[in-house]
Amino acid sequence: MNLTNLVKEKATHLGFHRVGIAAVDPHNPETPGHQGLQNWLSQGYQAKMGWMGDPRRQQVQKVMPEVRSLICVALNYYTEHPHSQDPNHGKISRYGWGRDYHKVLGRRLKALSLWLTEEHNATCRWYVDTGPVSEKAWAERAGIGWIGKHGNVITRTHASWVFLGEVLTDLELDSDKPHTAHCGNCVKCLDACPTDAITQPYVVDANRCIAYHTIENRDEELPEAIAQNLNNWVAGCDICQDVCPWNQFYSVPTDIPDFQPYPQNIAPSLSHLATLSQEQWDEQFRASALRRIKPTMWQRNARANQQNQEEKTSNNKNR
Ligand code: SF4
Ligand code: SF4
Repeated sequence: MNLTNLVKEKATHLGFHRVGIAAVDPHNPETPGHQGLQNWLSQGYQAKMGWMGDPRRQQVQKVMPEVRSLICVALNYYTEHPHSQDPNHGKISRYGWGRDYHKVLGRRLKALSLWLTEEHNATCRWYVDTGPVSEKAWAERAGIGWIGKHGNVITRTHASWVFLGEVLTDLELDSDKPHTAHCGNCVKCLDACPTDAITQPYVVDANRCIAYHTIENRDEELPEAIAQNLNNWVAGCDICQDVCPWNQFYSVPTDIPDFQPYPQNIAPSLSHLATLSQEQWDEQFRASALRRIKPTMWQRNARANQQNQEEKTSNNKNR
């Protein structure tokens, strides 16, 4: 078996659901999708996510000068629980229901890197979402899936409910074919977005996105256009992925026990979140990616939803 196939076998053995290789051309330093990223940044669509403008994101050699290949992986996190429709409960995006994906993917990527270093004398760096690497563009280049019009990577096998990670290595591995795009004429995600955040296919303006504001915005108040359209989301937003035909037909329950939801994360009551204390937050979101959302942000997000409910009730009474 050649080295590329050995690497793929090892990644599969470690539990990754998809693995693909993208070769890095040392004579063409630009990362795939760099022009799109540059356009997106010049519109200010990154909002306050300053790290998206890190120049290393547009040239992977700036992250690791000797890099020759990216081993891109995906892990399915879908579980068959519906989002709550109870107006008194908040909705949390599926990615945050179970154990922190940084830990779950990180453990496996670390093991893969260690094996490459020890058995194949490779130099490696691995990332889950945290490094200055354009992981969606590289995943598409490595044949994992394609970037849908909602900006997420869609796989043929597990739809878009996947976490992405990658190992950068100096090994020269055989490249997979880049994935072809399969959105066709569909615009369901654009039509469904309540805040018109998908300004055009493949372009999401974070300033208008519920996911950005509930997770990243640290201001005391949410912008009015977001607050009024939260639709009970308190952490992230799955609307554009939920309506996607690929997710409706190709979602498969994960076999990773760590991604089974912590019961308290599926449908927390808004009144509980609206007064969430530091101690409750610490207890509820232990080993969770949702720790990124601080107690005051949970309170703010929950209260904005409560206010929407109150206004709805009062409008109904006045009819
Ligand atoms: S996550 Fe929600 S707000 Fe953001 S683009 Fe998708 S549907 Fe729109
Ligand atoms: S909803 Fe349609 S356009 Fe949007 S990502 Fe899915 S297939 Fe593509």
